Amino acid sequence: MRPPAPVEAVIFDWGGTLTPWHDVDLTAAWYAYTSVYEPRRAASLAAELFAAEIQRWQDQHRSSGQSGAGRLDQVLLDCGIDITSGRHHAAMAAYLEFWNPHTHADPDAVPLLEALRARGIRVGVLSNTLWPRAHHEAVFERDGLLHLIDGAVYSSELPVGKPHLDAFHAALTAVGAHDPARAVFVGDRAWDDVHGAQQAGMRAILVPHSTIPADQLGPVQGSPDATVRRLGEVLGHVDRWNAEAAARAS
Ligand SMILES: [Mg+2]
Repeated sequence: MRPPAPVEAVIFDWGGTLTPWHDVDLTAAWYAYTSVYEPRRAASLAAELFAAEIQRWQDQHRSSGQSGAGRLDQVLLDCGIDITSGRHHAAMAAYLEFWNPHTHADPDAVPLLEALRARGIRVGVLSNTLWPRAHHEAVFERDGLLHLIDGAVYSSELPVGKPHLDAFHAALTAVGAHDPARAVFVGDRAWDDVHGAQQAGMRAILVPHSTIPADQLGPVQGSPDATVRRLGEVLGHVDRWNAEAAARAS
């Protein structure tokens, strides 16, 4: 059993964790894009984009994050999209509008992050995502979270993805945490999040409300240090670990 070191940083996954899991029809998301970009072949192009996106996630999953999934732009380029064109920018606006209702933060997120910061605990984000930082920051700004995040790492900016150790180390660095034993990761995936964080030396809290597709479950299901019924319960575990650490030190 790990010694209860005080918690100095809490790093959150995004999809299914800071924002509740939604079953999103990814082909429909791409159709919102293609119906603006190229209406005459919107359906077939949306199917191509969906296939290209899934291929990237499958490749990253098979490599255990050693090769990242890349960037949204790369999915578009895979399918011959002209990402410098005006119609691409208009189509991307439609794509983001499609996603808008599926990205709202968990109602517990703002009060939880405020409470952690009030305790002097740093708050971070580490997301496996194709989206550029700007898309995520717009969502966090909309929901009043952006100013509560000390550092965020998006796999679209990395050569790797979770559960690769480098992804967790990048997130620790981003929040200024130097000792993984003093950091906690909160996520909805037993392989990418729980196992990955624990391999990096962090404690891991599981938010078990997501419908993870069977082909995205990993070969190892980490055994979380805690499991929460709702996001706000993270605070109680952090407070308990810090109380245990203080008692041990006194
Ligand atoms: Mg997730």
